[in-house]
Amino acid sequence: MSKNTTAQLQQADRNHHLHPFTDFKQYSATGGRIFSRAEHIYIYDSEDNQFLDGMSGLWCCNLGYSQPKIIEAVNQQMQQLPYYNNFFNCSNQPAAEMAKALVEVTPDGFNNVFFTNSGSEANDTNIRLVHRYYDLLEKPNKKLIIGRKNGYHGSTIAAASLGGMEFMHKQYRGIDYVHHIDQPHWFAEGGDSDKNEFGLQVARQLEAKIDELGEENVAAFIAEPIQGAGGVIIPPDSYWPEIQRICNERDILLISDEVICGFGRTGNWFGCETYNYQPDLITFAKAVTNGFQPLGGVMVGDKVANVLKTNDGEFGHGLTYSGHPASCAAGLATLSIMQEQNIVENTAQTIAPYLQQQLRSLSDHPIVGEVRGTGMVAAIELVKNKNSREKIADDSAAAVFCRDQAINNGLMVRAVGDAMVTAPPMVSSKDEIDQLVQRLHRALDATAKEYN
Ligand code: PLP
Repeated sequence: MSKNTTAQLQQADRNHHLHPFTDFKQYSATGGRIFSRAEHIYIYDSEDNQFLDGMSGLWCCNLGYSQPKIIEAVNQQMQQLPYYNNFFNCSNQPAAEMAKALVEVTPDGFNNVFFTNSGSEANDTNIRLVHRYYDLLEKPNKKLIIGRKNGYHGSTIAAASLGGMEFMHKQYRGIDYVHHIDQPHWFAEGGDSDKNEFGLQVARQLEAKIDELGEENVAAFIAEPIQGAGGVIIPPDSYWPEIQRICNERDILLISDEVICGFGRTGNWFGCETYNYQPDLITFAKAVTNGFQPLGGVMVGDKVANVLKTNDGEFGHGLTYSGHPASCAAGLATLSIMQEQNIVENTAQTIAPYLQQQLRSLSDHPIVGEVRGTGMVAAIELVKNKNSREKIADDSAAAVFCRDQAINNGLMVRAVGDAMVTAPPMVSSKDEIDQLVQRLHRALDATAKEYN
């Protein structure tokens, strides 16, 4: 245990630690909260205040924090082979076993994996794989990638370029071969249109964009099954079938970024199963190790893998820690817990419908415009006027206020735009979901008082 007091830790942190997605000036003035331990679905700060973790960490601790089997697997691996690389025809036991285990849980037709440390690196890897694939097919002009506005694919230069977060784009110079189409966000952008009509219309922007750029130049379309960081945007039912039709008819690859949706979050192992589409590549990270070790990667579908694996020549891409033995050991333990305890199926049948049902009870709240979600992920859209969907405030201040109220009430949730977002651990009980909803309700009441 550290001998430093909370005040000393906070001082050190605000003086020396540059945090991700943080206003540096503000943080160095105010400092933040130091977390010191966790148990089941609760996290505790250095003053022993308890918070129900309604975000599973950063959408990753799907099995909660008390998973000794994962910790033991990492411990054992660290003692046996703490590191060796996977370059130059070398591998290690957990990496080889994890590759096979991932093939077992991903949809049919995915028999190969490329390991990274994170979702961002996995999406960079996607670009490298897709470009290599079309080069090997002697279609070297096929380099352009289409993503979506308000999509999130990570924070490296390439991953942030694939994403459509405008405020991020403004802060750096992105890569110039990524183009974006609209998101299927009916509540914010669909106006009076029928939801499914809107879904078709935004999906068809993909077709129009391919025509505009020239099919001979376009390599791939990347999208999250449900946009997570963008505010849990649930696509209309019509959306994914139309995207699938377009991708089938055109010579472009479909990348499903399942960094949040993968490993059960949407009620199936992968979001593409929930929405019934067949991607060519699947990005994963986060919950693959229950967040306990950094691990990400790309599941490569047979169409792409067969070309990559039957042509000569080295793929000039790799990371020092690709297939790290301790991370793969954590992944193996995570997958085996999920399989042995039927976590995905059980959650989909019991706690996920309960979460959705209980959250929908907040629909009547005067500042709630929409409750949307599926599986163990949901968003509550705050509005001033339920009928006109008038914004509750000009900026996202009301949602930030509501989030802070929730935190003060012992609940970790996230504010995205005007939405409150939650993605609790899949091992939550009904009582714990009740606690989550009650605390959220109290935060909504306080927000209504302040903003309505
Ligand atoms: N893709 C999606 C859909 C994500 O939500 C995230 C992170 O939240 C990433 C990629 C980036 O993953 P990482 O933060 O591990 O780089």
